[in-house]
Amino acid sequence: MTLVDGQWNGPILDNHFHLDRVGRYLDAAADFQRVGGTDLVLVHKPDFDNLPNNVEDVRKAYQDTVAMAEQVRLECDLRVRVVLGPHPAAWVHQCASLGNEESNELHLQAVELAIEFCEENLAVGVGEVGRPHWDVGDEVLDQADEILIEVLSMCKRANVPAQLHLDANGEKTNREIANICDHVGFPRFGAIHHHADADISKNFTHGLTSSVVVGRDSIKDISDTIWQNEGGFLMETDYMDDPRRPGAVLGPKTVPRRTQALATSLIGRGLDAEAVLSAIHIDLPEALYGEYE
Ligand SMILES: [Zn+2]
Repeated sequence: MTLVDGQWNGPILDNHFHLDRVGRYLDAAADFQRVGGTDLVLVHKPDFDNLPNNVEDVRKAYQDTVAMAEQVRLECDLRVRVVLGPHPAAWVHQCASLGNEESNELHLQAVELAIEFCEENLAVGVGEVGRPHWDVGDEVLDQADEILIEVLSMCKRANVPAQLHLDANGEKTNREIANICDHVGFPRFGAIHHHADADISKNFTHGLTSSVVVGRDSIKDISDTIWQNEGGFLMETDYMDDPRRPGAVLGPKTVPRRTQALATSLIGRGLDAEAVLSAIHIDLPEALYGEYE
């Protein structure tokens, strides 16, 4: 039994977490562990002040994220999976600085390299890829979608999941991305929607896997829509570890705390909290990323 007296004692996974050597770094990971966290998905954070201009610099940046993951495993007693990729915001910035053609090429090379890291078991997925989150106009959005089609084709061939960074237009965004998945033949399930809304009903998600950013109201919204969910969902903070914006995102302790709040909420509604939490923190991560090695 991992649910005792309404308290979840099983694994707790934050599906989208960044670390930065100049941020709180190991202290942030230790905070997560201290309140019951067991598993992090560490997502590569490009250095937006100094973006790589060639694939060798991308490799060095990926290697540093892999090294951070290893240090967290050793020093914080956590299981850490790594997700590597370029970033749609970096792609937009580099279309301006390098030109579209070179930026496109670098983006796809970075995805190819991330897949190589996956094949070497140094990473478990590609991300963040997708769309810029701000309004960039239809033309840039169409270009982003064209690149995403190529990226998901590559992920499909390699059989790796993708963490998607998207615009926040709710159901419309999800529907459009689901169509892209179908067009490519990439399973919607493997399209992990990072920073997703807490509405997890299938009519809203269109079968993408929601990685719900667990803000204050999220537990109620999850509980309200869980009846209509299919395929499960994950929880994340999108912790940025950015010393310049300390309060801009949820803190590292948030997923463990919201997990307990979700247990209480589900029990209050007569739902099987143990089954739901096992799916979130154990079964779905294993289905997407493979068993932790
Ligand atoms: Zn992120």
